[in-house]
Amino acid sequence: TSGGNIKVVIRCRPLNSRELVRGAKCLIRMEGNQTIITRPTDATGPGNSKAAARKGEEDVKSFTFDKSYWSFDKNDPNYATQVHLYNDLGEDLLNHAFGGYNTCIFAYGQTGAGKSYSMMGYGEDKGIIPLTCCELFNRIDRNCDNTVTYQVQVSYIQIYNERVRDLLNPKNKGNLKVREHPTLGPYVEDLSKLIVNSFQDIEYLMDEGNKARAVAATNMNETSSRSHAIFTLILTQKRHDAETKMDTEKVSRISLVDLAGSERANSTGATGARLKEGANINKSLTTFGKVIASLADASSGTSRKGAKKADSFVPYRDSVLTWLLKDSFGGNSKTAMIAAISPTDYDETLSTLRYADAVKRIKNKAVVNEDPNV
Ligand code: ADP
Ligand code: MG
Repeated sequence: TSGGNIKVVIRCRPLNSRELVRGAKCLIRMEGNQTIITRPTDATGPGNSKAAARKGEEDVKSFTFDKSYWSFDKNDPNYATQVHLYNDLGEDLLNHAFGGYNTCIFAYGQTGAGKSYSMMGYGEDKGIIPLTCCELFNRIDRNCDNTVTYQVQVSYIQIYNERVRDLLNPKNKGNLKVREHPTLGPYVEDLSKLIVNSFQDIEYLMDEGNKARAVAATNMNETSSRSHAIFTLILTQKRHDAETKMDTEKVSRISLVDLAGSERANSTGATGARLKEGANINKSLTTFGKVIASLADASSGTSRKGAKKADSFVPYRDSVLTWLLKDSFGGNSKTAMIAAISPTDYDETLSTLRYADAVKRIKNKAVVNEDPNV
């Protein structure tokens, strides 16, 4: 068993063209592992000290994470590239996966903050998912231990409005059911898990899945910003011991998650039908927040008085997303979070930083998934 906190990193994207046009100011600074946010002086709102503003003092908050990635300016020598993130997170993830652990990386943040850019990437700017898949096969191809054989399977789903769609089998338009296996945990029934033999195989499926996601978005009048996407790799390592004639099998699941835009979770303004729609669409994200909060409380032992045990209840089953990712939080997984932030939206960015700060406190208990005598 290997205990450990969820690794949390922050990544700040560049100003986009709209922000440049309106002359938006960058509110973020990074120093080492710290992310520092300054409230814009024109901002009014709860917590903004008018007295401080009058005195000309800045309202500055600073957070420490495992890493703070400065991707604000491509010309800056400190600019964090896709490869930087891959080297820090993807490499680790593969090491754990080959060690037989379940692993998970999830991207959190408001729409437009850089979640999909970091996870999937655009065009030549490949994100963590393709870079990790590529190296996965490099490692398998480099293997010269002929007592070990590998199998890689891929699945790709979208969760929208608590409905699960199989992105690798778009014909299956139905709402796939989530069930729980007594030992293997929650899973999606009838989900396609396709065997892949090369990076090209995966790349093809990834593209097909991304297309299916885009098509679903147009047909259903939904936007990808409201849906969660989970790309899963299942790595099976079979080892044959010539002396004992025994086979052992290690199965590890790599879950790569692009969450819906976090602004939905705390958006105010919505009323009537929009509010109702929002509540449903948000079910997974709000439950995600509750799960994080109760796990963070449990890990730091600050649960409310009267609770029997600090970790007595975590509402995993209240949403599809949290049920499926149960293992990745407070469970059997080595997990990392990428919190993507915008350099300009004060309230949303501060809320993401606080969220990430809570996730930092969660402790997981990862164990190797080894099964002798299969
Ligand atoms: P999200 O998935 O969080 O809604 P995206 O990943 O689609 O946001 O990013 C929004 C836009 O910002 C895209 O055009 C993307 O190319 C750009 N972008 C995001 N992060 C970065 C980054 N780190 N470096 C350069 N461009 C980025
Ligand atoms: Mg996106």
